Amino acid sequence: MKDHEQLPITPIKSGSGVWLEDFEGNRYIDAISSWWVNIFGHSNPRINDALKQQLDTLEHVILAGFTHETVIELSERLVKLTPNTLKRCFYADNGSSAVEVALKMSFHYWYNTGKRNKKRFISLTNSYHGETLGALSVGQVELYKDTYGPLMLDVIAVKSPDCYHREQGESCHDYSIRLFAEMEAALEQYADECCAVIIEPLIQCAGDMRMYDPIYLTMLREACDRHNVHLIADEVAVGFGRTGSLFACEQANISPDFMCLSKGLTGGYLPLSVAMTTDEIYDAFYDDYQNLTAFMHSHSYTGNALGCRAALATLDIFASDNVIDENKKKSVFMRQAVAELEDHPHVAEIRQHGMVLAIEMVKNKQTREAYDWKERRGLAVYQHGLKNSVLLRPLGNVVYFIPPYVINDDEIKLMARAAIEGIHKATSD
Ligand SMILES: *Cc1c(COP(=O)(O)O)cnc(C)c1O
Repeated sequence: MKDHEQLPITPIKSGSGVWLEDFEGNRYIDAISSWWVNIFGHSNPRINDALKQQLDTLEHVILAGFTHETVIELSERLVKLTPNTLKRCFYADNGSSAVEVALKMSFHYWYNTGKRNKKRFISLTNSYHGETLGALSVGQVELYKDTYGPLMLDVIAVKSPDCYHREQGESCHDYSIRLFAEMEAALEQYADECCAVIIEPLIQCAGDMRMYDPIYLTMLREACDRHNVHLIADEVAVGFGRTGSLFACEQANISPDFMCLSKGLTGGYLPLSVAMTTDEIYDAFYDDYQNLTAFMHSHSYTGNALGCRAALATLDIFASDNVIDENKKKSVFMRQAVAELEDHPHVAEIRQHGMVLAIEMVKNKQTREAYDWKERRGLAVYQHGLKNSVLLRPLGNVVYFIPPYVINDDEIKLMARAAIEGIHKATSD
């Protein structure tokens, strides 16, 4: 908050497409989709219309003993769209809560099936899964977690296949395979006491947009099966087309035991999340009341009708427009628009998976020595962006784009120009 003594908070009056407008008439391209949630632009007429209709029909109803048309239709469509073994939907209202559901349900599955030693989780270093205590425990970004150390679960951390750290000349594919040895060793050692491995498929978004190869997911799926450990795919950030496929897991051709979805699920309109799982896991809870095997977990707003309607309207756009293919062209254009940074003396790497592009600023390009975080180089890029009509919000020294898919070529150019100039400025001393 103290930063805002120098840098006033920007009050936004309205949004339209990729643009946000403040009360003085200044406009900003939302290059980060308002923290990765927006998919088809602000005030999208199609989502607006669907919501207005829903509002006049049903805003919300208890989802215990009762149900409603919108949540049923959404569940059926999600089951069709997600990898094949995911057949069941459990709704919550934000990404962290969906992660909590998956963690608890995984533990509870093993409990119900007599494997009561299984009570730990494996996650990757540099991973992020949300802010509530369970989700924070399985995350491994120190900045968010360290203070709360005394409150955390005892989680097994395995070195991330983050390809930024590959050797010179080594491909991301080969590095991901090489790093998998550490996961294999951890599974070997801990499988008996371990419920699940939780990962962010392909991109560790909050962990500075670090990326890895789909081969890691393919190997992980096989190893989890072999070791009798669940695989939780946290697609809260990468789901709904961000990585170039509707779900990132598709690129590895895998089906996890749990998939957590939120953020883009409602097109960025309303808080809603879902933890999807398999029939096998569902069946382990299905029993007579007296046996007390039920999953005792509920949220007041579970399956909220307005949220579900926004989600359906979002899926309708995916179904009727050629979004994934159009995005392929936009991804290429986005890369070309920042190509001149490849040779920049303070840019270590430009990396990309689909509609996510990240530029890593470093002190020394050869050694990849990082800038001291206290210098806040990213903040300088942020400020430059604001003065030039683009909302960028770097993570430390990493400048990135996760734009709404309605962005056009001119807007991509403008966004890229602000980032390029901002990086020049932030690294000029
Ligand atoms: C944002 C995020 C979450 C948490 O979602 P919230 O809705 O902010 O609670 C969980 N996992 C990943 C991968 C995320 O990016």
